[in-house]
Amino acid sequence: TTSKTTEIIEQTQKFGANNYHPLPIVISKAEGVWVESPEGNRYMDMLSAYSAVNQGHRHPKIIQALKDQADKVTLTSRAFHNDQLGLWYEKVCKLTNKNMALPMNTGAEAVETALKAARRWGYDVKGIAENQAEIIACNGNFHGRTMGAVSLSSDPEYKRGFGPMLPGIKLIPYGDLEALKAVITPNTAAFILEPIQGEAGIIVPPAGFLKAAYDLCKENNVLFICDEIQAGLARTGKLFAYEWEGIEPDMLILGKALGGGVFPISCVVANSDILGVFNPGSHGSTFGGNPLACAVSIAALEVIEEEKLAERSLELGNYFLEQLRTIENPIVKEIRGRGLFIGVELTEEARPYCEQLKDKGLLCKETHDTVIRFAPPLIITKEEIDWAVEKIKEVLA
Ligand code: PLP
Repeated sequence: TTSKTTEIIEQTQKFGANNYHPLPIVISKAEGVWVESPEGNRYMDMLSAYSAVNQGHRHPKIIQALKDQADKVTLTSRAFHNDQLGLWYEKVCKLTNKNMALPMNTGAEAVETALKAARRWGYDVKGIAENQAEIIACNGNFHGRTMGAVSLSSDPEYKRGFGPMLPGIKLIPYGDLEALKAVITPNTAAFILEPIQGEAGIIVPPAGFLKAAYDLCKENNVLFICDEIQAGLARTGKLFAYEWEGIEPDMLILGKALGGGVFPISCVVANSDILGVFNPGSHGSTFGGNPLACAVSIAALEVIEEEKLAERSLELGNYFLEQLRTIENPIVKEIRGRGLFIGVELTEEARPYCEQLKDKGLLCKETHDTVIRFAPPLIITKEEIDWAVEKIKEVLA
Protein backbone atom coordinates (compact mmCIF):
# COMPACT_ATOMS: atom_id res chain seq x y z
CA THR A 1 0.00 0.00 0.00
CA THR A 2 1.30 3.40 -0.91
CA SER A 3 1.11 6.09 1.70
CA LYS A 4 -0.71 9.37 1.24
CA THR A 5 2.69 11.07 1.26
CA THR A 6 3.99 8.93 -1.60
CA GLU A 7 0.80 9.49 -3.61
CA ILE A 8 1.02 13.24 -3.21
CA ILE A 9 4.69 13.35 -4.13
CA GLU A 10 4.05 11.26 -7.26
CA GLN A 11 1.19 13.52 -8.28
CA THR A 12 3.33 16.60 -7.69
CA GLN A 13 6.16 15.22 -9.77
CA LYS A 14 3.87 14.06 -12.56
CA PHE A 15 2.64 17.52 -13.52
CA GLY A 16 5.13 19.91 -11.98
CA ALA A 17 8.09 21.58 -13.68
CA ASN A 18 11.24 20.13 -12.18
CA ASN A 19 12.72 23.33 -10.76
CA TYR A 20 13.06 22.21 -7.13
CA HIS A 21 14.51 19.24 -5.27
CA PRO A 22 12.43 19.05 -2.07
CA LEU A 23 13.01 16.64 0.78
CA PRO A 24 10.56 13.73 0.45
CA ILE A 25 8.07 15.01 2.98
CA VAL A 26 4.57 16.43 2.56
CA ILE A 27 3.24 19.05 4.94
CA SER A 28 -0.51 19.24 5.25
CA LYS A 29 -0.86 21.18 8.51
CA ALA A 30 1.22 23.60 10.54
CA GLU A 31 1.13 25.61 13.72
CA GLY A 32 3.87 27.69 15.33
CA VAL A 33 7.20 25.88 14.86
CA TRP A 34 5.58 22.52 14.10
CA VAL A 35 4.36 21.00 10.86
CA GLU A 36 2.52 17.74 10.22
CA SER A 37 2.42 15.17 7.42
CA PRO A 38 -0.82 13.64 6.09
CA GLU A 39 -0.02 10.55 8.22
CA GLY A 40 0.10 12.73 11.32
CA ASN A 41 3.89 12.72 11.79
CA ARG A 42 5.08 15.93 13.43
CA TYR A 43 8.26 17.79 12.52
CA MET A 44 9.94 20.91 13.82
CA ASP A 45 10.41 23.47 11.08
CA MET A 46 14.01 24.69 11.07
CA LEU A 47 13.75 26.55 7.76
CA SER A 48 10.69 28.78 8.22
CA ALA A 49 10.07 28.82 4.46
CA TYR A 50 13.42 30.58 3.96
CA SER A 51 12.58 33.03 6.77
CA ALA A 52 9.09 33.90 5.54
CA VAL A 53 7.46 32.47 8.67
CA ASN A 54 9.50 34.31 11.28
CA GLN A 55 6.25 34.88 13.21
CA GLY A 56 5.50 31.13 13.26
CA HIS A 57 3.06 29.19 11.10
CA ARG A 58 -0.48 30.56 11.08
CA HIS A 59 0.09 33.14 13.77
CA PRO A 60 -3.43 33.71 15.21
CA LYS A 61 -3.24 37.50 14.94
CA ILE A 62 -2.12 37.37 11.30
CA ILE A 63 -4.74 34.76 10.38
CA GLN A 64 -7.41 36.92 12.05
CA ALA A 65 -6.30 39.92 9.99
CA LEU A 66 -6.49 37.77 6.85
CA LYS A 67 -10.01 36.57 7.67
CA ASP A 68 -11.28 40.01 8.65
CA GLN A 69 -9.94 41.61 5.49
CA ALA A 70 -11.14 38.73 3.30
CA ASP A 71 -14.66 39.55 4.45
CA LYS A 72 -14.31 43.18 3.27
CA VAL A 73 -12.28 43.60 0.08
CA THR A 74 -9.27 41.69 -1.28
CA LEU A 75 -8.22 43.39 -4.50
CA THR A 76 -8.89 46.74 -6.09
CA SER A 77 -5.84 47.08 -8.32
CA ARG A 78 -4.13 50.43 -8.14
CA ALA A 79 -6.65 51.94 -10.54
CA PHE A 80 -8.51 52.89 -7.35
CA HIS A 81 -7.47 53.57 -3.78
CA ASN A 82 -8.08 51.04 -1.03
CA ASP A 83 -8.38 51.73 2.69
CA GLN A 84 -5.47 49.51 3.81
CA LEU A 85 -2.58 50.73 1.65
CA GLY A 86 -2.19 54.09 3.38
CA LEU A 87 -2.09 52.41 6.78
CA TRP A 88 0.51 49.98 5.51
CA TYR A 89 2.69 52.75 3.99
CA GLU A 90 2.72 54.55 7.29
CA LYS A 91 3.57 51.39 9.25
CA VAL A 92 6.45 50.38 6.96
CA CYS A 93 7.91 53.88 6.74
CA LYS A 94 7.85 54.40 10.51
CA LEU A 95 9.49 51.03 11.05
CA THR A 96 12.29 51.70 8.56
CA ASN A 97 12.73 55.42 9.24
CA LYS A 98 12.16 56.27 5.56
CA ASN A 99 9.46 58.39 3.97
CA MET A 100 8.48 56.44 0.86
CA ALA A 101 7.57 52.81 0.12
CA LEU A 102 6.58 50.86 -2.97
CA PRO A 103 4.78 47.54 -2.52
CA MET A 104 5.18 44.51 -4.77
CA ASN A 105 4.42 40.82 -4.18
CA THR A 106 7.55 38.67 -4.26
CA GLY A 107 11.11 39.30 -3.26
CA ALA A 108 12.45 39.14 -6.79
CA GLU A 109 9.94 41.76 -7.94
CA ALA A 110 11.05 44.08 -5.18
CA VAL A 111 14.67 43.55 -6.30
CA GLU A 112 13.65 44.48 -9.85
CA THR A 113 11.96 47.56 -8.44
CA ALA A 114 15.13 48.56 -6.61
CA LEU A 115 17.23 48.07 -9.74
CA LYS A 116 14.85 50.21 -11.79
CA ALA A 117 14.78 52.90 -9.10
CA ALA A 118 18.58 52.90 -8.87
CA ARG A 119 19.04 53.20 -12.63
CA ARG A 120 16.48 55.96 -13.00
CA TRP A 121 17.98 57.78 -10.00
CA GLY A 122 21.35 57.41 -11.72
CA TYR A 123 20.06 59.20 -14.81
CA ASP A 124 17.61 61.70 -13.38
CA VAL A 125 19.40 62.69 -10.17
CA LYS A 126 23.06 61.73 -10.44
CA GLY A 127 23.28 62.68 -14.10
CA ILE A 128 24.74 59.52 -15.60
CA ALA A 129 24.62 59.52 -19.42
CA GLU A 130 21.77 57.52 -20.95
CA ASN A 131 22.10 53.73 -20.76
CA GLN A 132 25.47 53.92 -19.00
CA ALA A 133 24.35 53.19 -15.43
CA GLU A 134 26.22 50.47 -13.57
CA ILE A 135 25.17 48.40 -10.58
CA ILE A 136 27.66 46.59 -8.36
CA ALA A 137 26.71 43.31 -6.68
CA CYS A 138 28.60 40.62 -4.73
CA ASN A 139 29.79 37.16 -5.65
CA GLY A 140 27.61 34.51 -4.05
CA ASN A 141 24.59 36.81 -3.88
CA PHE A 142 21.03 35.64 -4.09
CA HIS A 143 18.48 38.24 -5.12
CA GLY A 144 15.88 36.03 -6.77
CA ARG A 145 15.10 34.36 -10.09
CA THR A 146 13.82 37.05 -12.43
CA MET A 147 16.05 38.22 -15.29
CA GLY A 148 17.35 41.25 -13.40
CA ALA A 149 18.04 39.21 -10.30
CA VAL A 150 19.82 36.39 -12.14
CA SER A 151 21.82 38.97 -14.08
CA LEU A 152 23.23 40.03 -10.70
CA SER A 153 24.16 36.45 -9.85
CA SER A 154 27.65 34.94 -9.97
CA ASP A 155 26.31 31.39 -10.08
CA PRO A 156 26.52 29.86 -13.58
CA GLU A 157 23.70 27.43 -12.78
CA TYR A 158 21.32 30.34 -12.13
CA LYS A 159 22.15 31.81 -15.55
CA ARG A 160 22.80 28.91 -17.89
CA GLY A 161 20.57 29.04 -20.95
CA PHE A 162 18.89 32.27 -19.90
CA GLY A 163 21.11 34.84 -21.61
CA PRO A 164 21.58 37.51 -22.68
CA MET A 165 21.87 38.96 -19.19
CA LEU A 166 21.33 42.61 -18.22
CA PRO A 167 24.36 44.72 -19.03
CA GLY A 168 25.93 47.19 -16.62
CA ILE A 169 26.52 44.80 -13.74
CA LYS A 170 29.84 44.41 -11.94
CA LEU A 171 30.64 41.80 -9.30
CA ILE A 172 33.05 41.97 -6.38
CA PRO A 173 33.98 39.39 -3.75
CA TYR A 174 31.58 39.70 -0.78
CA GLY A 175 33.20 41.72 1.97
CA ASP A 176 36.08 43.07 -0.15
CA LEU A 177 36.27 46.84 0.33
CA GLU A 178 39.29 47.30 -1.95
CA ALA A 179 37.50 45.51 -4.77
CA LEU A 180 34.50 47.79 -4.28
CA LYS A 181 36.76 50.83 -4.42
CA ALA A 182 38.31 49.55 -7.63
CA VAL A 183 35.05 49.06 -9.55
CA ILE A 184 33.19 52.26 -8.63
CA THR A 185 33.14 54.68 -11.56
CA PRO A 186 31.24 57.93 -12.18
CA ASN A 187 28.62 55.71 -13.85
CA THR A 188 27.96 53.62 -10.75
CA ALA A 189 24.38 54.09 -9.65
CA ALA A 190 24.20 51.58 -6.82
CA PHE A 191 25.82 48.86 -4.77
CA ILE A 192 23.38 46.10 -3.80
CA LEU A 193 24.11 43.45 -1.19
CA GLU A 194 22.67 41.14 1.41
CA PRO A 195 23.91 42.31 4.83
CA ILE A 196 24.33 38.60 5.60
CA GLN A 197 24.30 36.28 2.60
CA GLY A 198 21.55 33.71 3.11
CA GLU A 199 21.49 31.28 0.20
CA ALA A 200 25.28 31.42 -0.03
CA GLY A 201 25.35 29.65 3.34
CA ILE A 202 24.80 32.27 6.07
CA ILE A 203 27.91 34.27 5.23
CA VAL A 204 28.53 37.10 7.71
CA PRO A 205 30.69 39.85 6.17
CA PRO A 206 33.96 40.82 7.88
CA ALA A 207 33.41 43.22 10.82
CA GLY A 208 33.29 46.82 9.65
CA PHE A 209 32.63 46.00 5.99
CA LEU A 210 29.03 47.23 5.85
CA LYS A 211 29.95 50.54 7.47
CA ALA A 212 33.06 51.08 5.33
CA ALA A 213 31.23 50.13 2.13
CA TYR A 214 28.40 52.47 3.06
CA ASP A 215 30.84 55.34 3.68
CA LEU A 216 32.59 54.65 0.38
CA CYS A 217 29.26 54.73 -1.45
CA LYS A 218 28.40 58.05 0.19
CA GLU A 219 31.73 59.56 -0.85
CA ASN A 220 31.05 58.53 -4.45
CA ASN A 221 27.34 59.37 -4.63
CA VAL A 222 26.45 55.71 -5.06
CA LEU A 223 23.22 54.28 -3.62
CA PHE A 224 23.72 51.65 -0.94
CA ILE A 225 20.94 49.07 -1.26
CA CYS A 226 20.37 46.36 1.35
CA ASP A 227 18.45 43.29 0.30
CA GLU A 228 16.90 42.41 3.68
CA ILE A 229 14.40 39.96 2.19
CA GLN A 230 15.84 37.01 4.10
CA ALA A 231 18.00 38.58 6.83
CA GLY A 232 15.58 41.37 7.75
CA LEU A 233 12.53 41.53 10.02
CA ALA A 234 14.15 40.19 13.19
CA ARG A 235 15.84 37.12 11.73
CA THR A 236 19.41 38.08 12.77
CA GLY A 237 18.60 39.40 16.21
CA LYS A 238 18.02 42.97 15.03
CA LEU A 239 14.97 44.25 13.20
CA PHE A 240 17.24 44.78 10.17
CA ALA A 241 20.60 43.10 9.68
CA TYR A 242 22.25 46.39 8.64
CA GLU A 243 21.75 47.60 12.22
CA TRP A 244 24.64 45.33 13.19
CA GLU A 245 26.92 48.06 11.87
CA GLY A 246 24.83 51.09 12.72
CA ILE A 247 24.19 52.19 9.16
CA GLU A 248 21.02 53.23 7.38
CA PRO A 249 21.03 52.11 3.75
CA ASP A 250 19.62 54.41 1.08
CA MET A 251 17.21 51.75 -0.06
CA LEU A 252 16.07 48.58 1.60
CA ILE A 253 14.23 45.66 0.12
CA LEU A 254 11.84 43.60 2.20
CA GLY A 255 9.79 40.49 1.49
CA LYS A 256 9.16 37.06 2.97
CA ALA A 257 8.22 37.72 6.65
CA LEU A 258 6.66 41.03 5.60
CA GLY A 259 3.60 38.88 4.90
CA GLY A 260 4.06 36.63 7.94
CA GLY A 261 4.19 33.54 5.74
CA VAL A 262 0.49 34.07 5.13
CA PHE A 263 0.26 36.25 2.06
CA PRO A 264 2.94 37.39 -0.39
CA ILE A 265 4.03 41.00 -0.10
CA SER A 266 7.37 42.68 -0.70
CA CYS A 267 8.54 46.25 -0.97
CA VAL A 268 11.26 48.78 -1.53
CA VAL A 269 11.62 51.54 1.05
CA ALA A 270 13.72 54.70 0.66
CA ASN A 271 13.39 58.45 0.92
CA SER A 272 11.54 60.45 -1.68
CA ASP A 273 14.73 61.86 -3.21
CA ILE A 274 15.29 58.30 -4.51
CA LEU A 275 11.91 56.52 -4.81
CA GLY A 276 10.42 59.78 -6.06
CA VAL A 277 11.91 58.96 -9.47
CA PHE A 278 8.87 56.80 -10.21
CA ASN A 279 5.89 58.51 -11.79
CA PRO A 280 2.55 57.07 -12.93
CA GLY A 281 3.16 54.64 -15.77
CA SER A 282 6.79 53.87 -14.90
CA HIS A 283 6.23 50.87 -12.63
CA GLY A 284 3.52 48.80 -11.00
CA SER A 285 1.85 45.48 -10.35
CA THR A 286 -1.81 44.42 -10.41
CA PHE A 287 -1.56 42.81 -7.00
CA GLY A 288 1.00 45.22 -5.51
CA GLY A 289 -0.49 47.04 -2.52
CA ASN A 290 -3.67 44.97 -2.47
CA PRO A 291 -5.74 45.40 0.70
CA LEU A 292 -5.49 41.75 1.74
CA ALA A 293 -1.68 41.82 1.61
CA CYS A 294 -1.57 45.18 3.39
CA ALA A 295 -3.85 44.08 6.24
CA VAL A 296 -1.87 40.87 6.69
CA SER A 297 1.43 42.73 6.55
CA ILE A 298 0.42 45.28 9.18
CA ALA A 299 -0.48 42.41 11.52
CA ALA A 300 2.75 40.60 10.65
CA LEU A 301 4.83 43.67 11.52
CA GLU A 302 2.88 44.23 14.74
CA VAL A 303 3.61 40.66 15.81
CA ILE A 304 7.35 41.25 15.28
CA GLU A 305 7.17 44.32 17.52
CA GLU A 306 4.72 43.10 20.15
CA GLU A 307 6.45 39.76 20.64
CA LYS A 308 9.91 41.37 20.56
CA LEU A 309 11.03 38.84 17.96
CA ALA A 310 14.34 40.59 17.30
CA GLU A 311 15.35 40.41 20.96
CA ARG A 312 14.11 36.85 21.10
CA SER A 313 16.10 35.89 18.02
CA LEU A 314 19.26 37.41 19.50
CA GLU A 315 18.94 35.71 22.87
CA LEU A 316 17.84 32.31 21.62
CA GLY A 317 20.25 32.49 18.68
CA ASN A 318 23.16 32.98 21.04
CA TYR A 319 21.95 30.06 23.13
CA PHE A 320 21.49 27.83 20.05
CA LEU A 321 24.97 28.73 18.74
CA GLU A 322 26.51 27.95 22.14
CA GLN A 323 24.81 24.56 22.21
CA LEU A 324 25.81 23.75 18.64
CA ARG A 325 29.43 24.66 19.40
CA THR A 326 29.60 21.85 21.95
CA ILE A 327 29.37 19.35 19.06
CA GLU A 328 32.74 17.75 18.54
CA ASN A 329 32.99 16.18 15.14
CA PRO A 330 35.73 16.74 12.57
CA ILE A 331 33.16 16.97 9.77
CA VAL A 332 31.88 20.21 11.32
CA LYS A 333 34.03 22.84 9.65
CA GLU A 334 32.41 26.02 10.94
CA ILE A 335 29.37 27.15 12.91
CA ARG A 336 28.36 30.74 12.25
CA GLY A 337 25.44 33.11 12.29
CA ARG A 338 23.64 35.92 13.97
CA GLY A 339 20.46 35.48 15.96
CA LEU A 340 18.42 32.50 14.79
CA PHE A 341 20.12 32.62 11.39
CA ILE A 342 22.69 29.89 11.71
CA GLY A 343 24.81 27.95 9.26
CA VAL A 344 26.68 24.77 10.07
CA GLU A 345 29.26 24.15 7.40
CA LEU A 346 30.40 20.56 6.94
CA THR A 347 33.44 19.19 5.18
CA GLU A 348 31.08 17.09 3.06
CA GLU A 349 27.63 17.17 1.43
CA ALA A 350 24.95 18.34 3.86
CA ARG A 351 21.98 16.70 2.14
CA PRO A 352 22.32 13.23 3.75
CA TYR A 353 22.43 14.88 7.18
CA CYS A 354 19.30 16.88 6.39
CA GLU A 355 17.62 13.61 5.44
CA GLN A 356 18.70 12.01 8.73
CA LEU A 357 17.47 15.03 10.67
CA LYS A 358 14.15 14.76 8.87
CA ASP A 359 13.84 11.14 10.01
CA LYS A 360 14.33 12.40 13.58
CA GLY A 361 11.64 15.02 13.19
CA LEU A 362 13.69 18.09 12.30
CA LEU A 363 13.22 19.82 8.96
CA CYS A 364 16.24 21.64 7.57
CA LYS A 365 17.49 22.24 4.09
CA GLU A 366 21.04 22.19 2.87
CA THR A 367 22.26 25.30 1.14
CA HIS A 368 25.18 25.46 -1.23
CA ASP A 369 25.87 21.77 -0.83
CA THR A 370 27.82 21.72 2.44
CA VAL A 371 25.90 24.02 4.77
CA ILE A 372 22.94 23.11 6.99
CA ARG A 373 20.87 26.18 7.71
CA PHE A 374 19.05 26.44 11.05
CA ALA A 375 16.47 29.21 10.90
CA PRO A 376 13.42 28.27 12.97
CA PRO A 377 10.39 30.52 13.44
CA LEU A 378 11.47 33.20 15.93
CA ILE A 379 8.69 32.25 18.34
CA ILE A 380 10.57 29.03 19.14
CA THR A 381 11.12 28.36 22.86
CA LYS A 382 14.35 27.46 24.64
CA GLU A 383 12.91 24.01 25.40
CA GLU A 384 12.22 23.47 21.70
CA ILE A 385 15.80 24.45 20.89
CA ASP A 386 17.01 21.93 23.46
CA TRP A 387 14.91 19.28 21.74
CA ALA A 388 16.39 20.24 18.37
CA VAL A 389 19.96 20.23 19.69
CA GLU A 390 19.43 16.73 21.03
CA LYS A 391 18.40 15.52 17.55
CA ILE A 392 21.24 17.41 15.87
CA LYS A 393 23.71 15.81 18.26
CA GLU A 394 22.33 12.36 17.49
CA VAL A 395 23.05 12.97 13.81
CA LEU A 396 26.25 15.02 13.98
CA ALA A 397 28.05 13.76 17.11
N1 PLP B 1 16.63 38.23 -1.98
C1 PLP B 1 17.03 37.42 -0.98
C2 PLP B 1 18.14 37.85 -0.08
C3 PLP B 1 16.42 36.17 -0.82
O1 PLP B 1 16.85 35.35 0.15
C4 PLP B 1 15.37 35.80 -1.68
C5 PLP B 1 14.72 34.48 -1.54
O2 PLP B 1 15.26 33.54 -1.02
C6 PLP B 1 14.98 36.69 -2.70
C7 PLP B 1 15.63 37.90 -2.81
C8 PLP B 1 13.88 36.35 -3.67
O3 PLP B 1 12.64 36.35 -3.06
P1 PLP B 1 11.42 35.59 -3.76
O4 PLP B 1 11.73 34.14 -3.72
O5 PLP B 1 10.22 35.97 -2.91
O6 PLP B 1 11.31 36.13 -5.15
